Amino acid sequence: MRVSRILKRANYAIAFTGAGISTESNIPDFRGSQGLWKKFDPRMASRSYFKENPDGFWDFYAKRYEVIANAQPNDAHKALVLLENNNYIKYIITQNIDRLHSKAGSKSVIELHGNILMSYCDSCFKEKSTEECIKEFYKTKKAPKCDYCGGLMRPAVVLFEEPVKLIDIAMEIAYRSDCCLVIGSSLTVYPAAFIPEIVKRQGGDLIIINIDPTPLDSIADIVIRDKASIVLKRIIENMELK
Ligand code: NAD
Repeated sequence: MRVSRILKRANYAIAFTGAGISTESNIPDFRGSQGLWKKFDPRMASRSYFKENPDGFWDFYAKRYEVIANAQPNDAHKALVLLENNNYIKYIITQNIDRLHSKAGSKSVIELHGNILMSYCDSCFKEKSTEECIKEFYKTKKAPKCDYCGGLMRPAVVLFEEPVKLIDIAMEIAYRSDCCLVIGSSLTVYPAAFIPEIVKRQGGDLIIINIDPTPLDSIADIVIRDKASIVLKRIIENMELK
């Protein structure tokens, strides 16, 4: 299998993951055939919607939290743990807010869009668990408030119209990398999608594992249109990793 050969040859391979790696853990993606944006307006994940309608915003996030909090890592997340433990990948840069890479046991994970398990006050930045915030929301039907200053709480995720705080570190890693394994991303959300592009443009290998076509397929070295768990399992078996 060519993917295994490339991973064995690479000195600094990274994985770049998107919502598609978690669909087999029953978390819907955004733009796939059953994606969240087919049912909800993407504006519900924006800063302006949070400011205009914090109660509606929390209703949306409470529903997402419940799905995510109960989800378990699947074979694709587990395969990435083996690749990291055997030194075949250095970092996982993920757009996902579901924490499933860490739950599976991956150590070097950059969560570009934050994670939904914690929340913080939009005014004074004091933290509280999202679980507590949601209990408060269900009790009052109002957006949860900060215990210190009374400001509005919000999940620790990057909303549309907000900067991606860890993008500089992720880009530095991409510049060091000579191979990027993309798993389950439509590669349409920037600046995150710059990561695989940087690796390819500076001469690295680009491998894309995604059910649907992506805008970077034409410059990729390998494109595999199959489910993440099936492909990752095959890679692990091929490399005889345990
Ligand atoms: P996406 O939904 O755009 O793309 C997921 C891709 O995965 C699709 O192309 C789909 O075909 C593919 N796929 C689905 N299941 C698969 C499987 N089992 N195996 C292989 N491929 C599969 O998600 P994305 O690329 O992650 O980009 C969207 C990003 O935007 C999100 O990750 C999200 O973090 C981010 N974003 C979210 C918010 C928010 O909700 N607060 C705000 C800003 C940005």
